[in-house]
Amino acid sequence: MSKPRAYSVKAYSTTSAQSPLAAATISRREPGDGDVRIDILYCGVCHSDLHYARNEWNFTQYPAVPGHEIVGRVTAVGSGVKKFKAGDLVGVGCLVDSCRTCPDCRSGLEQFCAEMNMTYGGTDKFLGGGTLGGYSQGIVVREEFVLRMPANLNPAAAAPLLCAGITTYSPLRHWKVGPGQKVGIVGLGGLGHMGVKFARAFGAHVVLFTTSPGKTADALRLGAHEVVVSKDEAQMAAHAGSFDFILDAVSAQHDINAYLNLLKRDGNLVLVGAPEKPLAVAAFPLLFRRRSFSGSLIGGLPETQEMLDFCGQHNITCDIEMIRMDQINEAYERMLKSDVKYRFVIDMTSLK
Ligand code: NAP
Ligand code: ZN
Ligand code: ZN
Repeated sequence: MSKPRAYSVKAYSTTSAQSPLAAATISRREPGDGDVRIDILYCGVCHSDLHYARNEWNFTQYPAVPGHEIVGRVTAVGSGVKKFKAGDLVGVGCLVDSCRTCPDCRSGLEQFCAEMNMTYGGTDKFLGGGTLGGYSQGIVVREEFVLRMPANLNPAAAAPLLCAGITTYSPLRHWKVGPGQKVGIVGLGGLGHMGVKFARAFGAHVVLFTTSPGKTADALRLGAHEVVVSKDEAQMAAHAGSFDFILDAVSAQHDINAYLNLLKRDGNLVLVGAPEKPLAVAAFPLLFRRRSFSGSLIGGLPETQEMLDFCGQHNITCDIEMIRMDQINEAYERMLKSDVKYRFVIDMTSLK
């Protein structure tokens, strides 16, 4: 296949695990028949961006441009594009392509397709090298992987729905969290704060677990019925064996067994956090009470659109702190200190 024509956009990129992110110019393909060209307005800052930029998962391709919580305006579409036109407000999440024919893709579970291609960290089949993410002025994406943003939501505060939103919405829906259930959310970061909002919106009794006592008032305001400071053993013991479901959104090493012990018989602990090192799971907390330990990865395209529409109907957005592109390295350091309320979003006009 001959290389398509390309155009240049400004971006922020890093060239090694030790280097800070810095200004760079990158290439995007001119839109082909099925492509949508998007000018990026806002991009959320996911902890995965930091794991990836610093090669904590050992698959980073440099130069790396993170960013997969993208909201922007369509500026051009290919001749075959049906769903979008110039001027539309759209979103792009963690996926930019998949095979579109396998059973997973036909079930709308593109995130599990063997050929799924990620927004960054994937393979650029058109221009070569790795795919480059949303810390940039523009991106070109196949129309099947472009989402429609609800018109009533603040686009900056809606940007993190594209990863933090769907990653928490999907497991809560899959395991049918709802009224009459006691549900725990572990970690009040970008994912966790959306987990609290969704679990509350679905009618569950919501308990937020945090290592940061200073986040208690915010957790209650965001929708938690109770807050547990996880370092306090007495507070933890008071909830032993009482949860139907726990969603763990912690980005670093922590004691998973402490949460397994809080589940009822047949309760389920679902991991969405992706710490760089393996977690030690003890046998007995699983064997007793027949508990499950599971995982969940983002969500497919139909469910991501369903989640965005749900947020539009219920006026749900993320609590954000807007930053300029040149504040990204400082934002990463604050994220490592759990000092985010509760998602950084980059104003992409700051890259002009
Ligand atoms: P984040 O905003 O940095 O939030 C992580 C939270 O975890 C912190 O705010 C903190 O909450 C808690 N935490 C941090 N260090 C901790 C430690 N050592 N022990 C216990 N708790 C700790 O991160 P995020 O963007 O929400 O992402 C969370 C994780 O999910 C990351 O690993 C990310 O890569 C992963 N992720 C997975 C998927 C998926 O598809 N499965 C999608 C997106 C992201 P408190 O202050 O309340 O304790
Ligand atoms: Zn993410
Ligand atoms: Zn597929």
